[in-house]
Amino acid sequence: MSEAPSERFRPPPEYPPRSAWQTDCTACGACCSAPDIHALQKPLGVPCIYLDGIEGAGANLCRIYESRPQVCRNYQPDWVCGEVAPLPTLEARIRRFLEIYGLEGGV
Ligand code: SF4
Ligand code: SF4
Repeated sequence: MSEAPSERFRPPPEYPPRSAWQTDCTACGACCSAPDIHALQKPLGVPCIYLDGIEGAGANLCRIYESRPQVCRNYQPDWVCGEVAPLPTLEARIRRFLEIYGLEGGV
């Protein structure tokens, strides 16, 4: 039996059936792709230009990690990672991330 997740990783009541209670970043790339990031002039649903974008080992890492903007430094993994990271493609992870935040119509 796994331990209960901290509050940050506890999904809202409507999500438990799908959530994996993932508590580590697996560099799935969703949070660098799905949201719009004003500091980077990055539009919604489009991978950041600094994201190393090839699927597979070593993919979805930040190419400017040491100098990434503060908004990226502030971002922390939470329950949404458990919803998006297990999905098989970046496209699917972006779609799910936007769906969770009710932004899928904005792409
Ligand atoms: S969505 Fe979560 S698991 Fe995926 S890259 Fe961002 S922090 Fe890491
Ligand atoms: S600058 Fe780096 S951490 Fe920030 S969104 Fe782009 S790839 Fe992700």
